Amino acid sequence: MPGLLSVDEALNLIEQHAEPLAPARVALEDSLGATLAEDITSDVDSPPHDKAMMDGYAVRSGEGAGRGDATLRVIEEVFAGDVPTRAVGAGEATRIMTGAPMPAGADTVVPVEKTESVGDTVRLLAEPPPAGKHVMPRGEAMRAGQVVLERGAVIRAAQVGLLAEVGAAGVPVVQRPTVAVLPTGAELVDAAHKPGPGQTRNSNGPMLLAAAREAGAETIDAGVATDQRAPLRQAILAARGADVLLLSGGVSAGDRDLAPAVLAELGVEKVFHKVAVKPGKPLWFGVWPASSQNQSLTGNPPSPTYVFGLPGNPVSSFVCFHLFARPLIAELAGQGFKALPSAEAELVAGVSQPGGRETYLPARMASHRGKPPLVEPVRWRGSADLVGLSAADALIRLPAEPAELATGDRVETRLLP
Ligand code: AMP
Ligand code: MG
Repeated sequence: MPGLLSVDEALNLIEQHAEPLAPARVALEDSLGATLAEDITSDVDSPPHDKAMMDGYAVRSGEGAGRGDATLRVIEEVFAGDVPTRAVGAGEATRIMTGAPMPAGADTVVPVEKTESVGDTVRLLAEPPPAGKHVMPRGEAMRAGQVVLERGAVIRAAQVGLLAEVGAAGVPVVQRPTVAVLPTGAELVDAAHKPGPGQTRNSNGPMLLAAAREAGAETIDAGVATDQRAPLRQAILAARGADVLLLSGGVSAGDRDLAPAVLAELGVEKVFHKVAVKPGKPLWFGVWPASSQNQSLTGNPPSPTYVFGLPGNPVSSFVCFHLFARPLIAELAGQGFKALPSAEAELVAGVSQPGGRETYLPARMASHRGKPPLVEPVRWRGSADLVGLSAADALIRLPAEPAELATGDRVETRLLP
């Protein structure tokens, strides 16, 4: 559309303005969900010693070779946490428990069920397993000095375990950005209320809070603002500590679409208004520069608040969040400006587009053995249709040029979280 920014131009502008949040050091137990700000190096070998992986007897692998059984003198017992004090020689065995360090001399473990204990000796009921069986060599999983997690990795439960194992009690992270959500509209009532004449339930608020959480952000429910200057201004000011503010509604060209004017009054610097995208043309984006007033809620030094005015129609809001706000949230979190993953797919029904705006159609993917996946547009009645959107797990992307696509044609899709 002449005069309107393309999706790529809008994304470039957002990316140019976005700066990752300042790194901080947090206690291991507070690191879940954050992004590593530095590579993490192990300070230990794992396992720290040649480690028995079975309960049984540590012996020499050649013991009783060819004879089928052997009776060995038990010289020591080693539990996890103990350190063996005696080397195992010919005709000898050390009783050993899973996790315990292997004694010198021994190179294999005979599982306890293949033995019979007789006084202070043990009878092997079969030849010992080959050298190295049931033994995990020292340093097999990782060596001291090795990088075990890379900067940019998101910390989940497994990573918390690994960080603990390598002694990272304080973890260098970029914390999860905070996202405040502020729907606007005099017609809105909340989910617990039956809408009266002219009213609409506020679906965008809960949906955007959920989407922001899915994107890895902490969220703040900033309430609902009516279409009047003073309360809107108040509500926006109250959200200033957030890293990202998502407004919904009030950004089109109607008389009650006050968000752009109120944001300008408050000193939010407009970066763009309106993008050649369908759904979502009224999208507004700006930056509220850092000031001492917006001391970040995360305790980091003051940083700007990035403001999106998302369209009020729920599907438009949803699509604009995923196309434009989600990559910014990833960038703030230290993961890079990351778009939704894309995949090429084969249409199972025709789609068309009159041209003018890059178009995103809710769709369902299905795998297709050995071929690109199949994709089917969902039955969808426009940008207020959350029933259609709820059936989708992807968006078909149609470029801005007019197109008539048929079954079997290839299209680009964006996979929804
Ligand atoms: P607006 O962008 O404010 O003109 O809103 C466009 C359409 O989206 C109108 O039909 C609104 O009622 C609807 N809408 C606006 N905000 C929400 C919301 N939070 N939840 C559901 N629908 C909304
Ligand atoms: Mg409105």
